[in-house]
Amino acid sequence: SNQQLSAQRILREFARRCATPTSKLWQVANEMASDMEAELAPGDRGGNLGVPVSYLAGLPTGEEKGTFYGINLRGTNFVIVRGKLEGRNEALSDLSRQEIEIPLHILSSADSTKELCDLMAVEVAKFVGLHVESDSKVEATERTLGFTVSLPVDDLLPSSALHSKWRRISVNDTMGGELAQEMNHALKKHGIEMRVFAVVNDTIGHLAGGRYYNKESVAAVSLGMGTDVAYIESLPQQIVKESSSEAAETAINMQWGNFFSSHLPLTEYDASLDAESADPGCRIFEKLISGMYLGEIVRRVLLRMAEESALFGDVVPPKLTISYSLRSPDMAAMHQDTSQDYEIVQAKLKEIFDIESSTTSVREMVTEICDVVSERGARLVGAGIVGIVKKMGRLANRKSVITIEGGLYEHYRIYRNYLHSTVWEMLGTDLSDNVIIDHSHGGSSAASIFLAASQTDH
Ligand code: ADP
Repeated sequence: SNQQLSAQRILREFARRCATPTSKLWQVANEMASDMEAELAPGDRGGNLGVPVSYLAGLPTGEEKGTFYGINLRGTNFVIVRGKLEGRNEALSDLSRQEIEIPLHILSSADSTKELCDLMAVEVAKFVGLHVESDSKVEATERTLGFTVSLPVDDLLPSSALHSKWRRISVNDTMGGELAQEMNHALKKHGIEMRVFAVVNDTIGHLAGGRYYNKESVAAVSLGMGTDVAYIESLPQQIVKESSSEAAETAINMQWGNFFSSHLPLTEYDASLDAESADPGCRIFEKLISGMYLGEIVRRVLLRMAEESALFGDVVPPKLTISYSLRSPDMAAMHQDTSQDYEIVQAKLKEIFDIESSTTSVREMVTEICDVVSERGARLVGAGIVGIVKKMGRLANRKSVITIEGGLYEHYRIYRNYLHSTVWEMLGTDLSDNVIIDHSHGGSSAASIFLAASQTDH
């Protein structure tokens, strides 16, 4: 029909603008690498990534042994974990985990850090009491509590005063220092023999986890609702503070969500998404690749087709106009629908947009939009990773392990496949053997355990 032809035209045009040929990916990778260099240069910061946050304590060697505790502060809750490491890169075992909701009155106040730390300390005490250690020789000495923060990037979360404060932890060392101090105060007050050395972004915790398992682990990528990267920087002096001038290696949280390049394949849909977002002009890379935005891009294309090509009939389905109504798990479910008549696509269209019926060819078009959006996102992630490895000078003759964690990577199979194949495509058979993409071990909250391990003297 005419409608479908017109919708097809919109789709083809969109796909054309989203195209990421290898040459373009290399431009993106090269720019990522040069921006990273620029960030490290003393004085003027030429890049557009965030201010690098260095984490100066040591990273695990893989020989750490013992029972370690960690805490992961998240959007509306925190998770306390305990696990056992046995050295020789052996897998984390005996993992216990407890999730605790943060009461609203704490979340809604910017001055509630003290109360929050009090609550966390009380819960840690309970947790320690409940999970009796299997180690017989438990010393009564002070232990390290690994402390990581996962930033809520959900633009839809009711903005809480405390959230906006935590958000800054990732870009501000002092902020983390304050939280650590407050937490130590609370631990002491409640008579808990534990101490927090540093509060860091959880991506750095993941890098610590990657390091425990593999010395060639050089970067950790988180790909969930939002996205972030921590990598190992061996450049000393320039940005390393006096306190640790002997540090040969530093973990840097690079805030790659802020990356921008004129080579990014941006479309009118991305432009309007950005313009209507909470922070126009910021986090452009994140808005192309992370779980928060993929479904929203798809929705915008569908809306255009509904308006201009009457894809879903004469009346535009009202729910199709609601921003962020299509979430990436639903997008993935439609995209990965292998049933003959795309029954899952139809079920999702009904469930999310109240679209009663659709023809098979319309459903197929929906999956194609999902494909274009996820392919572009995953290929850009691949290019970004190649850029990082290039910056580290490790593309040739050296192995690099990149750990990736997060719901988007873990659960969206086609996205993950596009990501892997892109790295291979960019590097070719020879070089791609040097870049190993690994899934993170132990899940998201375990990161703090590795942090605790690396901060404990042996
Ligand atoms: P965070 O919200 O801290 O990033 P996760 O790493 O667990 O937490 O990632 C959750 C995000 O991953 C979801 O918000 C969603 O964007 C994405 N996600 C989860 N499951 C799926 C799925 N099945 N398909 C596609 N994306 C998914």
